[in-house]
Parts: sequence; C-alpha cells; structure tokens
Amino acid sequence: MTDPLFRENAYVTTCDARVLEITEQGGIVLDRTVFYAASGGQPGDTGRLVMADGSAITIADTVFDDDRTTIIHVPDAGQTLPPVGSALAPELDWERRHKLMRMHTALHIICAVLKTKITGCQIGEEESRIDLNIPEPPEREAVQELIQQAIGRDMPTSTEWITDAELDANPDLIKSMSVSPPRGSGRVRLVRIGDDFDLQPCGGTHVASTSEIGAIDVTKIENKGKLNRRIRIRFAS
Ligand SMILES: [Zn+2]
Repeated sequence: MTDPLFRENAYVTTCDARVLEITEQGGIVLDRTVFYAASGGQPGDTGRLVMADGSAITIADTVFDDDRTTIIHVPDAGQTLPPVGSALAPELDWERRHKLMRMHTALHIICAVLKTKITGCQIGEEESRIDLNIPEPPEREAVQELIQQAIGRDMPTSTEWITDAELDANPDLIKSMSVSPPRGSGRVRLVRIGDDFDLQPCGGTHVASTSEIGAIDVTKIENKGKLNRRIRIRFAS
C-alpha cells in the first residue's frame, strides 16, 4: 500500500520516500508518493525519482496495482532500478500535472452546468472530452458561455469524505454512469466546487479555485448515439 499524498494536497510536487518493492514487470512501489495513479479518466503522472546521489530515474506513467491501493511508478525502459529500501524523492512533471488538474476541474464544471450524468471522459494536457447522457445536443456557444461564467466566479474546490453507507443513502451524488466510486475502504472521497455548485465522488486532482482553469474553448459537440453527447474542450490560446 502506498500513501497517496496527492489525495489530501494536489499541489505537493515532491516528498521523501522509500522503495518498498520492484514488481515483476519492473515497476517501482514507494511507501508514499505525490504521483497520481491513472484512474477516472485522468492519466497517471510522469516525472523523476531522484536518488540520494543525485541521479534520477525517469517515470513514464503511474498506475494502480490490482488492489487499487498500491501505486506503481513505471520507469522508461533501460534504466537501473533502485534497490528495495533505498531513499529517494519523487518529483512530478508539475507543468503537465497542473494542466491535467485544470482540465479535470473544467469537466466537473461542464457536468454541473448541464446538470446531467457522465457516461465517459478522457482528460488530456491539451484537449479533453466528456460524454454526457443528454437527449438534445446543447448549443456549443451556450455551453462555452456557461462554462466560462462558472470559471469566472472563482469558486473554491474542497474535498470531504463520507461513508459507503452515506453514499448508498444519497445515490444522486454519483454523476458518473461509467465509473463507480471505489468501494471497500469504507469511505468515499467527495469533491465540492463552491458551496453547492457541484458535489460528486472523485479521486482525481483539481485546482484550488475555478479561476485557475483559465479560458476554455468548447471545440466540438458530437452525437455519439442516443443519450450520449461528446463535448470536446481545449485551453483557449
Ligand atoms: Zn474530479
């Protein structure tokens, strides 16, 4: 099990850590990390593991093991792996991660302004998409206006935890029809935007305030079948 420091503070870019295990596939497991493990449509983090002697191992991806609590840092091929027990410091590619945090938070806003359920999403550094369960395609300019208004309200984001039982008693909190909140630990993490602008289970990383997202272009709204509209966004240049 890895202590996921990004879950309590998405702005921590490095920490002290120790190597717990090297997996059969050559993945590196640490006791704690700031690297987000791919899940919920958000890609895993990239960056470097800096050893005590100053040398570094570049990390191409970060994923969860099957247990969903152990985080595996996937190194670029051909590098010498650190010995189990050694001390090192994971250092995030912060520029990329911050873009993913801005995009991720923007997708929550789209879901909230259109007041609908999510059927899929994919978050990228430059472009992201969200699939929504809405029968009539919204007008692109109207969606763009609603998103930018919400971003401009500079609403803070925050996290809180509820029990599995509390979530079961409030099924409307679940906005995703494709990804179910992780169960089993007995508690579920909720992400709130503003006082009550949006509240939903999510394990991802988000910016502290909506204004940090910046200007977003809605580039396309596609029809992906009955009750499924795909909205594509990019950072406005
Ligand atoms: Zn989220």
